[in-house]
Amino acid sequence: RPAHDLPLLHGLNPEQLAAVTLPQGHALILAGAGSGKTRVLTTRIAWLLHTGQASPGGIMAVTFTNKAAKEMQTRLSALLPISLRGMWMGTFHGLCNRLLRAHHQAAGLPATFQILDTQDQLSAIKRLRKAFNVDAERYPPKQLGWFFASCKEDGLRPKDVPAHDPDMLKKVELYQLYEDQCQREGVVDFAELLLRSYELLRDHPALRQHYQQRFRYLLVDEFQDTNKLQYQWLKLLAGEQEGGRIVGSSSVLAVGDDDQSIYAFRGARVGNMQDFLREFAVPHQIKLERNYRSHGNILDCANALIEHNSQRLGKNLTTDQGAGEPVRIHEAPTDLDEARWLVEEIQALTRNDGFARQEIALLYRSNAQSRVLESRLFNAGIPYRVYGGLRFFERAEIKHALAYLRLLENPQDDTSFLRVVNFPTRGIGARSLETLQQEAGQAGCSLMDATTLVSGAAGAKLRSFHALLDVMREAVAGQSLRHTIAHVLHASGLQDHYRADKEGQERLENLDELMNAAESFVLQEGFGKDAVALPLDETAAGAAGAALTQSPASQGIDLTQPLLNRLLPDTNAETGETLSPLQAFLVHAALEAGDNQAQAGQDAVQLMTVHASKGLEFDAVFIVGLEEGLFPHENALSDKGGLEEERRLMYVAITRARQRLYLSHAQSRMLHGRTSFNLPSRFLDELPAPCVKILGARGFASFSPKKEAASAYSTGFSDTFNLENRMKSAEAAPVSNKSQHASGIAKGCKVFHAKFGEGRVLSIEGTGDDARAQVDFPRHGSKWLALGIAKLTVVE
Ligand code: ATP
Ligand code: MG
Repeated sequence: RPAHDLPLLHGLNPEQLAAVTLPQGHALILAGAGSGKTRVLTTRIAWLLHTGQASPGGIMAVTFTNKAAKEMQTRLSALLPISLRGMWMGTFHGLCNRLLRAHHQAAGLPATFQILDTQDQLSAIKRLRKAFNVDAERYPPKQLGWFFASCKEDGLRPKDVPAHDPDMLKKVELYQLYEDQCQREGVVDFAELLLRSYELLRDHPALRQHYQQRFRYLLVDEFQDTNKLQYQWLKLLAGEQEGGRIVGSSSVLAVGDDDQSIYAFRGARVGNMQDFLREFAVPHQIKLERNYRSHGNILDCANALIEHNSQRLGKNLTTDQGAGEPVRIHEAPTDLDEARWLVEEIQALTRNDGFARQEIALLYRSNAQSRVLESRLFNAGIPYRVYGGLRFFERAEIKHALAYLRLLENPQDDTSFLRVVNFPTRGIGARSLETLQQEAGQAGCSLMDATTLVSGAAGAKLRSFHALLDVMREAVAGQSLRHTIAHVLHASGLQDHYRADKEGQERLENLDELMNAAESFVLQEGFGKDAVALPLDETAAGAAGAALTQSPASQGIDLTQPLLNRLLPDTNAETGETLSPLQAFLVHAALEAGDNQAQAGQDAVQLMTVHASKGLEFDAVFIVGLEEGLFPHENALSDKGGLEEERRLMYVAITRARQRLYLSHAQSRMLHGRTSFNLPSRFLDELPAPCVKILGARGFASFSPKKEAASAYSTGFSDTFNLENRMKSAEAAPVSNKSQHASGIAKGCKVFHAKFGEGRVLSIEGTGDDARAQVDFPRHGSKWLALGIAKLTVVE
């Protein structure tokens, strides 16, 4: 019986210990946020390895985001001093990519297949639509993209999609054409990665059984957010299906929290949990009920909030940590003020309270909200890092450079061809390209190959582009990745193009950065002779650190990313070939998530959407933009299921915080080009009053977040000031605490307000019609009221 008193097991509570040291067999851990699910999963891997029950090659661990995979790998390397190279750990997409690379022939893909990201996919669809004269209004590319993805996520190829009406028939026809085009060009989109590797396993029993025997342990984090196809994929890896049951020698550990299911809109199914219990006849179910992450007030807020949902499996969470500080709620007049307040709070947190910047997270519901926050942080000189915004590899100049590189690898890649055939300009116009596309369509070949079919001057220009690439390919053969990129940037004319552009400086720097990224990537992925067998500590933190100090220019790319999110097959199982550094780098670029505005390794505040924050934790968390229509999102307001999903999202956001939680909202906000006045989010009302504290703004009037106060906007700022006045008062009005208003109201006296009840006057400002009092109402927090308008009566 394997040891139970190893140092790596210390500190686990009895339920966690039981889960970590479970005997063979499937298990489900269903438990709330911060209860140690990920810790159990990671520690179990460490325990299996340490006790010799498994080797790294016998383990597959799936996480939801690259960042989470990275987090897990970091935790694991802290526990175990051995090389984890053979272990398959990553996201579903990353692991599927790895499988397809290793068996590309069986999967019907070229060895150099490229991955289409969402943008590439859209342009591929647009091209297709054009080629087949499809009505653009009736079939917008985005919607087609969603349609194709949802078919794939249901495991449906065009022939399997039920189509009864002409509209559906057309869409299915387009789906088929899209698939043909992708196949011809040797590209796969994200959903295809999954479906293709699912089919690979399904249709090749020998291969499937090989992996079933190899992966004795399958571990899945954030199981509540797996979709149907991901679950089917797992089942194939876990064992053979017999009479509705999965039979095999592997042990699946699924870990999740139904209250944190936030991807239903993308097809995730909480129902997978019930299916898992039944189909795997799961013998072990474990609950974890103690939260180790958050202070009591934060946890109480999370618990109270999620109680408002009806569709729950029901769990309890308690903490031993004590109540801690109250959750702070702040109301700002505008989104700009919100950002300004936030910057001041962050400065106070880091300067006065000793918080590290990387332990502070700003969470928002929609990506668009980050811009204002970013510019404020930037102006204040606070380093920050945005996850999931415009990522490095999505920037136009980087995509151009990558397109050239992709064409070197795979000349059939029409998306890349079209991206750069006339960039920098080579006098190849839209007309010529149309002709080219027609020729290619008729001949059933790639655009590159079709360049020989076009006549006249246009044909000559196209062929010289073809020749340019051939020459490039020859020039870089056998060269290092850095040299290859340097050559391509020069020979393609990209560098000269941006050099000539007055505003091209930043883009040039980004292109330089691409070379640095490539170099670090090569270093870390161990493509050189000497890098293969480094012990883990040197490869992980060590090599990343070394790369940084040795190459001062290596900035702006998260160096730990490629190492930690291992996507690369060691060798191709069928042919014995290894992926070339360029191929590997292109894969990395297509799957890379996470971009650093701050320099790599620099202590920076973290910005991300709530979706992206799942599984992570921070000492201090700000959730901004808590307004009706924004969070909960307007699309969800009319539908109960949608609203419950928004509430789970809020639950995820709240439970990221360890010690401090700030919630803020603004009375008015510029978003999508217009100013809107939104009510405070209903989620604020769902928090227990004893756990929260309403902050008075710094120098601004402050309202309660309750809805009554918000109604002031619709009635024309009844007894509150208008925005302009408040701005003025903050800047100009001298604070005269001693003054007393004609009505007899003075600092310190107790007053009554019809809506807010009794409160104590904290201060009075201004005189005559301009006079206003700051009153602290026990149930509504402190508010500034215009004495000329607000009906206040003195109680004592
Ligand atoms: P989420 O649902 O948000 O993904 P989780 O259930 O995966 O949360 P973890 O991230 O594993 O929770 O753990 C939350 C925090 O609590 C981590 O910092 C972890 O190290 C800590 N923790 C977990 N178990 C214990 C324990 N027994 N003693 C002390 N700290 C613990
Ligand atoms: Mg977790």
